[in-house]
Amino acid sequence: MAQALSQGAELLLRTVNGAGAAVRLFGQVTCVGETPEAAVVARLMHWLDAERPAETFHTDSLSAVLPEAAEWVEHASGILTISLSDRDRIVWFRPEVVRTVNWGGDPNHPVLPKGARIHPRRSFELWKQRVRRKSLPWTDEELRSAAALRGDLVDIFVRRAEQRSRARLEALNQELARSNAELDSFAYVASHDLKEPLRGIRNYTKFVLEDFGDSLPEEGQERLGTVVRLSDRMEELMDSLLHYSRVGRGHLAIQDCDLNLVVAGVLELLEPRIEEKGAEVAVEGPLPVIRCDVSRISEVFANLIGNAIKYNESDRPRVEIGYEGDAQRQEELVFYVRDNGIGIPERHHEGIFEFFRRLHTRDRFGGGTGAGLSIVKRIVERHGGRVWVESAPGEGSAFRFALPVVPASAAFPAAG
Ligand code: ADP
Repeated sequence: MAQALSQGAELLLRTVNGAGAAVRLFGQVTCVGETPEAAVVARLMHWLDAERPAETFHTDSLSAVLPEAAEWVEHASGILTISLSDRDRIVWFRPEVVRTVNWGGDPNHPVLPKGARIHPRRSFELWKQRVRRKSLPWTDEELRSAAALRGDLVDIFVRRAEQRSRARLEALNQELARSNAELDSFAYVASHDLKEPLRGIRNYTKFVLEDFGDSLPEEGQERLGTVVRLSDRMEELMDSLLHYSRVGRGHLAIQDCDLNLVVAGVLELLEPRIEEKGAEVAVEGPLPVIRCDVSRISEVFANLIGNAIKYNESDRPRVEIGYEGDAQRQEELVFYVRDNGIGIPERHHEGIFEFFRRLHTRDRFGGGTGAGLSIVKRIVERHGGRVWVESAPGEGSAFRFALPVVPASAAFPAAG
């Protein structure tokens, strides 16, 4: 480790022939070689952050731009700095070099005295000056090396940051999956175990009504009737919750599935409701064969088609079922269930997929628990797809769900 560090330091100094360097990474400053003391380095970094935040900056006379640097000339007459990010920066230092410069005349006395004639010997007399508070200049080659180093380091920084955020995302996903699974098992156990006492309440209330109803005043009978109704409703909600959590658990039974048969089966089940409403259902084009969990995807179609008929007040309810895309060429197929029903305001387009979310009072449109669309979403997402709605009040709704085209050998993710 110590050897690696000292090798790194040497390489750093050699990059631009600095006498010393200070590196600030993640807020921590490390100095190598000949540098000013720590407090001076900290002050200089602070000044650079404020005054020279750009990518690179160099000078062979720091005191010319920062007067207090006149005190630091021994180590920091000249500096070259590259910034790697808001917080990270490298500064190289060069000491003062007192040089003698030969001028072709006195640079401090450029104007000839009035009336004087130009005299070759006087004008071009060699003028010697000792230049102070300056370091050796930074050469183009050295500036290029520093810029190249900066490029390499920034690349590494960016890659590291990407790796870190990817790892963090994965960890978050795992955590989410775990907490979803925990929530599911909690919902499962809670709804399962609560059903028993609930059934007891309902049955005992019914017994009281049957056995002692006649001796109760009418108001008492009505209230007990309400207890029974509410218990039924609660059981319905618990069944939905139980079912919802079941949909999120366990493996999907993936197999080749002819969606023509799936939809035909669903329509058969819904036949009484279709007839009752006088609805017209059209399957557009033969549907494809896809790899999916047949019973789950049947449930998706059953929910969507059921809703298309249920939330429909037109004289002639119409439902169209079909898909877009080419299973041979595209990565996903988009299925739709379209209706000429009541439509959904845009502000509810996302909310309706949440659990127990209903837009109507309990008994309107034949009731429901508000679980259907959240179950649809869950099933579609477990297949690696997504679901959304396009709709406006009075203009019908088109529910669409995209499913990825899955090669025969591909496995689906296990539940949470
Ligand atoms: P439920 O039908 O049991 O209420 P869903 O989750 O299936 O629950 O639907 C949630 C809400 O979305 C419904 O209460 C209804 O207001 C609205 N909705 C669903 N499908 C349609 C549709 N095809 N047209 C209009 N509104 C719909």
